[in-house]
Amino acid sequence: MIRTIAIILLTLSTAGAGYFGWTQKKSNSAVTEQVAELTQKVEEADKKVEATEEELAANKEMLPPLMTKAQELEAVKAAFSTGTVLKDLEAVYAKEKKGLSPERQLGLAGVRLLTNGTKDPATVEAFQKALEMTDWKAQQKVICAAQNALAAAGQPVKVMSECTAEAPEAKGSSKAETKDAHAEKADAKEGHGKDDKKGGKKDDKKDAHGPADAHAVHWDYEGAMGPENWGKEFPTCGRGKSQAPLNIKGPFEKVRFSVAPDYKQGQLKIVNNGHTIQVNVPAGSKIRIDGKPYDLLQFHFHRPSEEQIDGKPSAMVVHFVHKNTEGELAVLAVMLREGNENPGIKTLWTHAPKAEGPEVVPDGVMFNPANLLPKEMDFFHYDGSLTTPPCTEKVKFFILKTQVNIAKEQVSDFPFKLNARPVQPANGRPIYTN
Ligand SMILES: [Zn+2]
Repeated sequence: MIRTIAIILLTLSTAGAGYFGWTQKKSNSAVTEQVAELTQKVEEADKKVEATEEELAANKEMLPPLMTKAQELEAVKAAFSTGTVLKDLEAVYAKEKKGLSPERQLGLAGVRLLTNGTKDPATVEAFQKALEMTDWKAQQKVICAAQNALAAAGQPVKVMSECTAEAPEAKGSSKAETKDAHAEKADAKEGHGKDDKKGGKKDDKKDAHGPADAHAVHWDYEGAMGPENWGKEFPTCGRGKSQAPLNIKGPFEKVRFSVAPDYKQGQLKIVNNGHTIQVNVPAGSKIRIDGKPYDLLQFHFHRPSEEQIDGKPSAMVVHFVHKNTEGELAVLAVMLREGNENPGIKTLWTHAPKAEGPEVVPDGVMFNPANLLPKEMDFFHYDGSLTTPPCTEKVKFFILKTQVNIAKEQVSDFPFKLNARPVQPANGRPIYTN
């Protein structure tokens, strides 16, 4: 147990997201020590495969702080768990003729670890080997790349001052390297850009977004980092040919399959991540698309709806974000039009934080995402992308034809006035209907 957590944390500190220890960004050397200490602990644990109960007890005091970090890590792991990061990274590195630099090897090994988990001994071993081969500076570069990627993808990650573009340390090649790795990793971040807020971070949120603490790559819905400029930092947003959202209009192609949600009631977990209100869904809810199950990860809102039907947006839209075991993403969109009060939304808005901050888990409040669905499941369908940076493609979209009511007041109570990406060129993509 200790060993597993330690390995995970070690991964996190080096190749993952560097939550660990980085909250105190002033004490760089302390962090180095912590990493070194953990490395040693992992090695020690390796030697004591048959750990006795006494040993476990001795390690017990390490557990609580480690557990907290492990929870924070969930968000990071989720970001990598689709396997897309790994695939992309492997594809890019496969073209590398001269062989990989130690920090790239470490990054790759780390991503493998985050994707495959710690159960595969070969993956763990490869990571440890890569770790041994790199010096601290190289590890720091990898951390920066991961931090920038996660921050860009909307994670509440604190980016080390050493990792921001302005940092004096980010010199020449190192900066290019970081950016490069960033693009690849960010691209792989799943779940609609904002998918994995769970775990979140517990420390002071204001700090993370105060003017002194610059995000490496910030994005927004208006201004200098508005949608028309996302492509500058996130190439897929600018150059992708299958971007979402689309204006839905005929002619349509016919499909025969159906989508069948099977959503379950569970503890409400809700977060204002600075871009939207998002509900992180406990395991157990899924949707079947043409018979294939996809797990519901989270759902979130846009105002107005990103999708348009014949050029018209609705007041808002809910995006239910799903992922199957192959890591493929599917978004179910339910458009919300002004009308009667929506009881489901009422529950959500009661608990939704007005300002950006960590996930809130209101005691004993249960929610069933099915409350937000219409009865009829007829849909439009097309292949699109995340509608937030990094705009990763190969996301299946299903937009329900039946809209659901939301009261005007409920629309204006949504803390984001505008958080919708404009419609994107279809580039000849067919739009299907069932
Ligand atoms: Zn969305």
